[in-house]
Amino acid sequence: MDRPDRLTGNADTALEVCRSCPSRLVQPVQWRRLGDDLWEIDLRCPDCGATAREFVPKEAVARYDQVMRRARQVLERHLEAIERVDMGADRAPYGDPPPDLRILPEEPGPAADAA
Ligand SMILES: [Zn+2]
Repeated sequence: MDRPDRLTGNADTALEVCRSCPSRLVQPVQWRRLGDDLWEIDLRCPDCGATAREFVPKEAVARYDQVMRRARQVLERHLEAIERVDMGADRAPYGDPPPDLRILPEEPGPAADAA
């Protein structure tokens, strides 16, 4: 196992921040626990494609996990809002028809005329 001589980050390292561009959406590709307080994390930036391997203490991993959890909650709230808009559109996409164009139940249909 290629155990690093030293950490590449500390407890406050913002793993979600790209080292190559301003993006704050860096995602974990793979993470591995190397010891009690040592994690290896492969990261990838979705904006510029940069990859990195970080060796950080578990506090940094816990912090990163919290960042991703909050981001997931924001995404879920946005998806719920989109779903509510979609459901509203399904209910009455063009609004209710005016009363004079509604077919009344007692009116005979085309099949009744043919018989
Ligand atoms: Zn980037």
